[in-house]
Amino acid sequence: MNKMTVRDVDVRGRRVLVRVDFNVPIADGKVTDDTRIRATLPTLQYLLDQGAALIVMSHLGRPKKPDPAFSLRPVAERLSELLGRPVQMAPDCVGPEVEAMAAALQPGQVLLLENLRFHPEEEKNDPEFASRLARLGDLCVNDAFGAAHRAHASVEAIARFIPVVAGFLMEKEIRYLSQALTNPGRPFVAILGGAKISDKIGVIESLLARADRVLIGGGMANTFLKAMGYRVGDSLVEDEALETARRLLQEGGERLMLPVDVVIADAFAPDARARVVPVDQVPDGWRILDIGPQTVARYAEEIRRAAFIVWNGPMGVFEFPRFAEGTFAIARAVAESGAVSIVGGGDSVAAVHAAGVADRITHISTGGGASLEFLEGRTLPGIAALADRPSSS
Ligand code: ADP
Ligand code: MG
Repeated sequence: MNKMTVRDVDVRGRRVLVRVDFNVPIADGKVTDDTRIRATLPTLQYLLDQGAALIVMSHLGRPKKPDPAFSLRPVAERLSELLGRPVQMAPDCVGPEVEAMAAALQPGQVLLLENLRFHPEEEKNDPEFASRLARLGDLCVNDAFGAAHRAHASVEAIARFIPVVAGFLMEKEIRYLSQALTNPGRPFVAILGGAKISDKIGVIESLLARADRVLIGGGMANTFLKAMGYRVGDSLVEDEALETARRLLQEGGERLMLPVDVVIADAFAPDARARVVPVDQVPDGWRILDIGPQTVARYAEEIRRAAFIVWNGPMGVFEFPRFAEGTFAIARAVAESGAVSIVGGGDSVAAVHAAGVADRITHISTGGGASLEFLEGRTLPGIAALADRPSSS
């Protein structure tokens, strides 16, 4: 990686701003899922062990102004438990009082800033606001991959004032995702599903150009099937994407694989009647909610042969147990393949956990939107802003 990381800087006795993604669910003043907090612990613990004082910053939800319902205070409590040391909570993220708190920090101490989005300047990438954040530390470590696709002040503009380097989580995301774009093992199999084609056209195109096989499932398969001339009943279909689907079918040729059988339902409901049919026999009034067993067998065969796998998007409505088998069977196949495997996307990650195979996936991306934009081959502002490693000469 040609970007600097925490390993490349001396942080002893320095005040280090750490941008993290603590956008976690909170109920009744308690963090209900601390996965994102845990994911940053290696970076935070490393910096503390190296003798830094930490000023940690994050957004939470989408408040437009200060709102106690979006306070990071519950996160400070959870973070303190996980780090096993006190975490001070700042009353705001900028201003004289916060500056005094940051200036008073000793090595090994941790200060959590209040929600960055209490200031609209954060999302506007305002340089003046970024300079006020930058004033709090000597350098910045960015471990918020989930926010890397946003040009926001704490992610992008801040780099104009202090050096920003990658944390371990950011480094890991960049390493695995860029492998998919530049030097994946072969055969490289991409698995794409989820609700809609229109959300993911860029990703489908990018992966069609790079992968040896692209396996399609989920709601997006319906639009492809309709574009091929099949009748899909009441399935979720994007008529406005039919033209795109035809073009992708042309471009993809043999590399693009579609379901040969599907699980159909007589209603969109968990207790709907379910039947398995070939794709050319979907009756009117029924809808496709999962891929069928023959499709699973064909896809699993490709997955078994793969050396490198990228998966985004569930194969069916896995939230309904009756229509989860396609997704879970694919999850197991990926876990058992022995390939380097990357799973990205909020629902896909949830599906891999629900299937009980998360610990056998090589890399589970923490960024939904960010990982998709990365796989499209786009430059993410938060990655572009990281300091370049001095060229070795
Ligand atoms: P991710 O969050 O992993 O990127 P998406 O948000 O694109 O995935 O898609 C996930 C959603 O797609 C799930 O809620 C799932 O129920 C839905 N889905 C999958 N297959 C179908 C289908 N055949 N019909 C309708 N919805 C589907
Ligand atoms: Mg989703």
